[in-house]
Amino acid sequence: MELAHLASSSDALEGLCGSEAASQIAQNHFVHPAGCLLFRRISLINHSCVPNASIRLCDNEEFAHVIVACDVAAEEEIVLCYSATVLFAAREMRQSELHSRWGFTCECARCSGTLAESEVDTWRMLENAALSAQNAKPRGPVVDPSIVAQQHEALARLETLLPHLCELERFRFDAAYFAAERCNM
Ligand SMILES: [Zn+2]
Repeated sequence: MELAHLASSSDALEGLCGSEAASQIAQNHFVHPAGCLLFRRISLINHSCVPNASIRLCDNEEFAHVIVACDVAAEEEIVLCYSATVLFAAREMRQSELHSRWGFTCECARCSGTLAESEVDTWRMLENAALSAQNAKPRGPVVDPSIVAQQHEALARLETLLPHLCELERFRFDAAYFAAERCNM
């Protein structure tokens, strides 16, 4: 995808404060080791807490791919989850994070309570597993075996129910929440 703008750092964006353009850049850029990337098309993709696509930034910062590996209907919108933190968070925390960082109230199926019951159960389990992982970290190298078991169950179910997400390595999310426990096994 074409690159529209590359700022050298987040600080550079903050230096543009005040203008509407600066606000749009700040809310639509992607963080990359080379700086903050703004894409002509990818940056226009909306958020959902139940994403059907992910973005992969290439080592060469001029390229990124939007990867949609699940079945998508002809008129279905392609949506990304803007934040790894948001993806596994409970509704209240998702809403708070999205509003403070991006300035909108999410009305996706997960936030509006219109998900299928089986999907509600899955996401609730993943939210609980992520929360327990976070709570376990400050306790040091000794991890409660029941928490490890819970996370393994969550990952196994995740890989079964959301295989397209795992295939795409979008779980960098996985790394954020589960890596510490895996290292301690
Ligand atoms: Zn949402």
